[in-house]
Amino acid sequence: MSDALPCATPRVPAPPAPAVHDILQTIIDFLPSGVTLFDHEFNMIVCNRQLRELLDFPDSLFEDGLPNLRTLARFNAERGDYGPGDPDVLAAAVIERAMRREAHVFERARPNGRILEIRGNPLPDGGFVTIYTDITERKRAEEEARRSASYLDAVVSALPQGISVVDEDLQIALWNPAFVKLQNLPDGFMKPGITFAEVVRFNAQRGEYGPVDPEARVRSMVELARRFEPHRLERTRGDGGSMEVEGRVVLEDGRPVGFVTTYTDITERVRSEQTIRRVKNLMSDAINFSPTYIWETDREGRYTFAQGLEKILGQPDASIVGLDRWATLFGPDGAQVPAHARILQQLQTHDALDRQTIRTTHLDGREMWLSCSAQPVHDDQGAFVGYRGVDVDVTDLTRAHQELEQMALHDPLTGLGNRRKLLSRFELEVARMARSGGSLALLIIDIDHFKAINDTHGHLVGDECLRGLANLLSSNLRAVDLVARFGGEEFVVLLSDTRLDQARIAAEKLCSTIAASRITVPDAEPLRITISIGVAGMCAGDSRSFDQLLEEADLGVYAAKHAGRNRVCTARDIESHMSDRSAEGMVQDDR
Ligand code: GH3
Ligand code: MG
Ligand code: MG
Repeated sequence: MSDALPCATPRVPAPPAPAVHDILQTIIDFLPSGVTLFDHEFNMIVCNRQLRELLDFPDSLFEDGLPNLRTLARFNAERGDYGPGDPDVLAAAVIERAMRREAHVFERARPNGRILEIRGNPLPDGGFVTIYTDITERKRAEEEARRSASYLDAVVSALPQGISVVDEDLQIALWNPAFVKLQNLPDGFMKPGITFAEVVRFNAQRGEYGPVDPEARVRSMVELARRFEPHRLERTRGDGGSMEVEGRVVLEDGRPVGFVTTYTDITERVRSEQTIRRVKNLMSDAINFSPTYIWETDREGRYTFAQGLEKILGQPDASIVGLDRWATLFGPDGAQVPAHARILQQLQTHDALDRQTIRTTHLDGREMWLSCSAQPVHDDQGAFVGYRGVDVDVTDLTRAHQELEQMALHDPLTGLGNRRKLLSRFELEVARMARSGGSLALLIIDIDHFKAINDTHGHLVGDECLRGLANLLSSNLRAVDLVARFGGEEFVVLLSDTRLDQARIAAEKLCSTIAASRITVPDAEPLRITISIGVAGMCAGDSRSFDQLLEEADLGVYAAKHAGRNRVCTARDIESHMSDRSAEGMVQDDR
């Protein structure tokens, strides 16, 4: 192989024995580096194949035997191997360096991008040997390693988490700025060679671990670290902040050689967790100590959650999950209640509910009243997913309200409607007539000689008599008619959608029914009473007021009394009765 290269014949000094020379040439031809040897006059004596290949020396350079240094330098300078510049100057510099006869190492980047390491060593007789090694790959690997190290360094430095690497001797081999910051270590404390034990000791002494014996703490931590076990813990720092510490073991060939520990500042997380817990507790208390429960439904109105429902409605919170909330609350016929029907309507259109009153039943059967407020809930895409709401138990309030209303609109003795109630019904009837025509009638019923009952049996029996008559009147009239008592021994009846002639017939029926009835009272014989009734009526378009109509009916009563009682009269009857009344009759009846 060496035959192919005409570089095998040294000229000076005298050639060694051919066998030795051949062996030497073979050896250098197989060296991985380019090798060349110059004598003291810079004549090349030896060069190997690798040198010619590494430097791309063309065969023409070797046509006249081995070239000298000047020829080679000139050749290299011209082809740009020494970089830009005047070839004469560049070549002269190479010769000048060779003439210094000093050992030297330098790298040369060739125009083809390869990097050569060139080591020159002077020889004792004045010549020198030069070894050329292609270090392109090594340089690239070094560069890559350097680059990834600097990337890694940048990443580790920029991490918000603290990082430390502890080696098998428990020295801290690496740490980042966040480690120093999170541990609140003083400037300059962390320095190469610092041990894990020193950091623990420093922290223990300044009270980071609470009131502990620093040396005992160092011993236990070092012992723990030596076990090289992965660990994870939360630590409260001396300044009240919180830190999560997580250690992972570094293995080399399955053997632990240290651990990487990350330190994460979880102060904010811990604080917000505490806040959330506090708010949750507050909310639970608010729900538990108030007549309220909260609930959620899916889009079909089935309960997905409830808290506090049991204390109000008796069903355990968990037991109602999956049930149709509205059907459960409203009961079998509940949707017929106008307020409930309105809610169902609002649910259809996903409206919010604002303090809507619901009537429902407790598990034990009691009637309950809830005030319900709710908001529709949407997912991140804006799709309706159900309702979330609050129900407040307003049973007591509703009852009190109903009682007040009862008191405001009813007569306490008989439970009948009072003047106010009658007036409001009158207004409703007038409105109805304005819409759809028709008529109404009013009866004033006055007990005949009631004073005598009081006088004979006492006031309590009189009261009982009033109650008895109230019942008789109610049970002998239609449900749409309203019987009221304004006080005294007079009753007023509003007959809905009734003409005057019909009213008169109804009143006469009442008169005879009462006259034929017995009213049971305590401690006395059942009472027989009669009544006098005055009738007045009005039709659609009639603009008379309630009081005017009452006055007219009152005239009827007056007429009835004068006509002998136990009868029915209208205002018109006054004149006829007045004109032909018999003094005898008046005397008899007015006794
Ligand atoms: P007349 O046939 O003319 O109507 O005779 P009267 O006795 O029924 O009429 P009068 O107006 O003279 O007497 C009404 C009596 O009704 C007088 C009063 O003490 C009694 N009274 C009024 N309110 C009450 C009540 O709430 N309870 C009782 N027990 N008596 C009442
Ligand atoms: Mg009277
Ligand atoms: Mg009377």
